[in-house]
Amino acid sequence: MERLLAKPVEPVVARSGRARPIASIHHELCIACGACETACPTRAITVTTTATVQGSRCIGCAECVDVCPVEAISMIGPEQVPETAG
Ligand code: SF4
Ligand code: SF4
Repeated sequence: MERLLAKPVEPVVARSGRARPIASIHHELCIACGACETACPTRAITVTTTATVQGSRCIGCAECVDVCPVEAISMIGPEQVPETAG
């Protein structure tokens, strides 16, 4: 009897397709001091009334986390990045 070939297994990837963590801003804590914008080596952060991360520029280095005086930034894994993140 002929054996059925197993279906090829699809690799599991994060929904966003990212392989690195990304900085996530807790807007309720951000005091818009601008320290993260200055520290970011890839200019991924813009600060106006709050900080915003441009996801496509973030390399996951966590420099911004280190300089934030109010702990308003945390790194999240690629599997937690919304599909809409830029
Ligand atoms: S983790 Fe690094 S690259 Fe990403 S926003 Fe923070 S400082 Fe910029
Ligand atoms: S360093 Fe922290 S408090 Fe300052 S702008 Fe960035 S996220 Fe906001």
